[in-house]
Amino acid sequence: MAKEEKGKKEFKPYKPGKLCPKCGSRMAEHEDRYTCGKCGYTEWKRPKQEGGKTAKGNEEEQE
Ligand SMILES: [Zn+2]
Repeated sequence: MAKEEKGKKEFKPYKPGKLCPKCGSRMAEHEDRYTCGKCGYTEWKRPKQEGGKTAKGNEEEQE
């Protein structure tokens, strides 16, 4: 069965970035941190859980 899919484009709404707690400016998002170009404030992102408890049980892919 051929299923025609119409050009469905999901419009991504504008994501407001993180605001600087110091000066309130929008911070630039980097790979591992946020930086404020106004006052130079840097906030590191929380590292992913490594070596912690991971629910490794039923990994089933449902299609
Ligand atoms: Zn700032």
